[in-house]
Amino acid sequence: MNQLSEYKNNPSFSINLKADSEKNNFTRQVNHAHFSLANSVQPKKPEWVHLSSSFLKDYEVEVGDKDKLLKLLSGAEKFDDFESYAMCYGGHQFGHWAGQLGDGRAINIAELEVNGENLKFQLKGAGPTPYSRRADGFAVLRSSIREYLCSEAMHHLGIPTTRALSLVKTGDLVSRDMLYNGNPKDEFGAVVCRVSPSFIRFGSFEIFASRGEKEELKQLVNYTIKNHFPELGEPSKATYLAFFKEVVNRTKELMIHWQRVGFVHGVMNTDNLSILGQTIDYGPYGWLENYDPAWTPNTTDLEHKRYRFGRQPNVALWNLTQLANALYPLIEEVEPLQQILHEYKRDYTLGFHKMMCEKLGLYVQEEINEEFITQLEDYMEKSQVDMTLFFRELSAEKAMDFNSFLDILEKSTYLSADELKAQQTHWEMWFGKYQVHIEKEKIDSTQRSVQMKTINPKYVLRNYMAQIAIDAAEKGDNSVVEELYDLLLHPYSDQPEMEKWYTKRPDWAMNKVGCSMLSCSS
Ligand code: AMP
Ligand code: MG
Repeated sequence: MNQLSEYKNNPSFSINLKADSEKNNFTRQVNHAHFSLANSVQPKKPEWVHLSSSFLKDYEVEVGDKDKLLKLLSGAEKFDDFESYAMCYGGHQFGHWAGQLGDGRAINIAELEVNGENLKFQLKGAGPTPYSRRADGFAVLRSSIREYLCSEAMHHLGIPTTRALSLVKTGDLVSRDMLYNGNPKDEFGAVVCRVSPSFIRFGSFEIFASRGEKEELKQLVNYTIKNHFPELGEPSKATYLAFFKEVVNRTKELMIHWQRVGFVHGVMNTDNLSILGQTIDYGPYGWLENYDPAWTPNTTDLEHKRYRFGRQPNVALWNLTQLANALYPLIEEVEPLQQILHEYKRDYTLGFHKMMCEKLGLYVQEEINEEFITQLEDYMEKSQVDMTLFFRELSAEKAMDFNSFLDILEKSTYLSADELKAQQTHWEMWFGKYQVHIEKEKIDSTQRSVQMKTINPKYVLRNYMAQIAIDAAEKGDNSVVEELYDLLLHPYSDQPEMEKWYTKRPDWAMNKVGCSMLSCSS
């Protein structure tokens, strides 16, 4: 085991790709470069909020000198063998090309060889970069808690994601107009250190294609393949297509995961989709409570709900189409790209069906038609069934008759008993079909329950839970952050002492800012 601060840097992205020749840190368009050098701002009085013990354990890293580590992870000190930088990328925001975006408040502070993997360490909220546009480069405590907790929770749910190593307060105040209603308020500044083998996004390719910078586009694609998809072989048109196919496949898998656990990203712009198929950029995300495909937590998106839960798989396809356009100059053939996109639709539909059947504990799936699942979704929506509770209760080991199924519905609905009763007939019909399918299962009920519990989490980071942690932390009490972090290390396990978090959204959280609605302000 090594101490993190003593790891040697082994720059990969910043050695193999092109640096911006301008070294000064001012807002600008950056042409013909993949990144710009940028230093973090000195924080006034850095203070720990949390450090991910599970990250340290996974990568066999020792904390070592905690004061030194705090300095590195707050931006107060630099790794002395590394030139920190911000990445250049563009993106389609809400369906429109937005031009250059880039790391406006993210600075890569290290590229360390950890456990045989080249990991990029990035501080989010450590000050402005050439890509900050009109914003300040900082982040506030509430959004940093949300990013920190959710990154780690996602990892423990077994869903690809960037990791979060640490969360610190900077000791500075940052002004934010949270509701965009002309009432800015001073909030606590914070920095999350997030970690991934790569922070390259779809938008990283789009920016070069949009500018006709084919050389830089090719360099980035070749770099990405060589370092992150080496099994695909030497660069060639065939390899570029194989690369695209792999990204399509990973993105499809990610969408199936999000739909499985009820995660709504909230801002699926092309700059927020990772080339590795990881969940990245936790902003106004949310977790489905009552099953509602039309739900989005993002107040900025309320009018069109482009990024609503039920639309995520289609948006991913739209974003993949933008990536195909960006790669086109290197491939110059439309048909094979279209073919791959076409396969996404087919494979997603198959994968989603399989996943939903498995959530129901149905592994013999030949005779289960799509309508059976669509009906379930429809009834769950109409009965306002809490997604997490419903599937978890269904995973309990017990013989199921319609009465015990009704108990589950009663436990998980947000409707009144009378309202639910009005829906009983269609549930009865659906349950009849469910029982027919269950009878075909070959495994016993114990094994079936164990298996169901591996994909139906008991604990997710419900929106109100994160808000309770935030409210406490803003008063200087980090204990709820800690409690939720610990809880979400084992989302699939029954944790009897944590039963209070296994419950429906409380009424007070229904329309509270931060619980059901979130703005992009962070
Ligand atoms: P997002 O929608 O959060 O992924 O951000 C979109 C773009 O805005 C990215 O280029 C971010 O780096 C940038 N951005 C967001 N917040 C800030 C901020 N406070 N300061 C500078 N840039 C920001
Ligand atoms: Mg982003």
